[in-house]
Amino acid sequence: MTATQDTERSGAGPSALPHHPLIIGGEKVDTDDKLEIIDPSNGEVVATAACGTAEHIDRAVEAAQRAFDGGDWSRATPAERADVLRKMSTLLGERLEDIVELEILGNGATIRQATGFHVGYCAPHLEYFADLAARYEFERPGPRAQFPTLGQSSVRREPIGVVGAIAPWNFPLLLSLWKWAPALAVGNSVVLKPDEKTPLSALALAEIALECGMPPGVFNVVPGIGADAGSRLASHPGVGKIGFTGSTAVGREVMRLASGTVKAVTLELGGKSPAVVLDDADLETTVDGVLYGCMLYSGQVCESMTRLLVPREREQEFVDRLVERASTIQLGDTRDWETDMGPLVSAKQQERVLGYIESGRAEGATVALGGGVPDGERFTHGYWVEPTIFTGVRNDMRIAQEEIFGPVLSVIAYDDEDEAVAIANDTEYGLAASVWSADNQRALEIADRIRAGSVWINDAHQINCAVPFGGYKQSGTGRELGPDALDAFTEVKGIHLDLSGSRDARPYDVLLSHAGD
Ligand code: NAD
Repeated sequence: MTATQDTERSGAGPSALPHHPLIIGGEKVDTDDKLEIIDPSNGEVVATAACGTAEHIDRAVEAAQRAFDGGDWSRATPAERADVLRKMSTLLGERLEDIVELEILGNGATIRQATGFHVGYCAPHLEYFADLAARYEFERPGPRAQFPTLGQSSVRREPIGVVGAIAPWNFPLLLSLWKWAPALAVGNSVVLKPDEKTPLSALALAEIALECGMPPGVFNVVPGIGADAGSRLASHPGVGKIGFTGSTAVGREVMRLASGTVKAVTLELGGKSPAVVLDDADLETTVDGVLYGCMLYSGQVCESMTRLLVPREREQEFVDRLVERASTIQLGDTRDWETDMGPLVSAKQQERVLGYIESGRAEGATVALGGGVPDGERFTHGYWVEPTIFTGVRNDMRIAQEEIFGPVLSVIAYDDEDEAVAIANDTEYGLAASVWSADNQRALEIADRIRAGSVWINDAHQINCAVPFGGYKQSGTGRELGPDALDAFTEVKGIHLDLSGSRDARPYDVLLSHAGD
């Protein structure tokens, strides 16, 4: 058995466990190597999946290209494609409970959160992409020209061909859907590589796609190790575009690999988002909003508000209330509807978060709450970390600069609003931010000065499929969602049609002036 990244890969996985093959060309394909799917709440292997390699990616890209060239999907009408996506959304809703179970098996989300957010958001987002597809402007007229000859131009949007999607483990279904749904909506074929820890819900969706009438080969799902299957997808010459969500470090590598064949990339990467509290903010709403913004899904959300910037004169009042409210967060059985917070995704992630907590202590910050593994027998198995609040944090400490991806909030005091804005922007990231104030005008003025792709005023984690989402600076490039989401999966073609019908009127004599000599 070989340990690879966070996931065990074995040639002989436990046979009694449910097993999930790859989906290539509409067929289930098994592999010798297996990915072990681990329940993060107890560390037990609960299922296995086939582990695709670079060779499987090659097969999937070939199948996707064949399907694209065949035209059953790429040349279907937009209404036909939208219809299939809507059927998928209906089945997703009907099978919500089963898909939630597949989603949380590997990523440890609580059932409440997975139902309401991880999987709950998927059907409406799919509907949104279907609606966009049905009314997408594939062709619009360009100018009619009189000079040098009469002509009519038009601008067309066409599918790229084969699109590669690489998804992370935190929202396996939703963040992959943000790629495959708009890509498929405009007629592309897709090869999706889910994260090796959490491939099950995406595999289930590929089966639903076939059931709903999507032609075989249009939507292929190949779980596998990032450095093998993922890097082959990013560098494959037959893939025209890569949509990637993950860490900034891997995003850089994907961009480098994609550059070999000059592929388009959309990158949704890491964050270190600030919550900027102004001096007139309401204590109770702000504290609950900030905890929701930071601790949701144990802080494993890319836009988590992990730095709380608070006016120095209100710091103590906020810290007292934060500690009081965060102490009520109940950790426990992820399938219990009463549980507020689950574990971290893996042993590696738990070790990393505990390491950051140690670095915060070593750099002189004070632990006001939490700071380790929770007490109790049930937390000795699985990958648990307490909700943790640091006070006395300076923005140059590692816990304020580096993405922890755990339930760790850093409280940073500021003296005036200019300093607050400077601290908020003093980061290599720019994914999101929030501003908290009783005065909308003041809050909007601060929002204007923050360099981030999303700014929520008096709220957090407001993901709206009709609003573009993505990062400034090293949080990424390109945007997902929003009314223009399909553009990112098209090529643009300019067409000129001569309307003069006359050889003489055209400027060919610039070259052929001696033709009659
Ligand atoms: P990761 O970068 O380790 O992995 C993401 C995906 O990339 C996985 O499928 C992985 O297998 C693959 N991968 C790994 N190495 C690769 C390589 N060399 N070539 C190609 N693919 C490779 O990230 P993660 O740990 O899964 O997710 C957490 C990170 O994702 C955090 O940094 C978080 O902020 C970020 N994230 C960003 C957003 C966003 O929308 N901006 C959303 C969620 C998560």
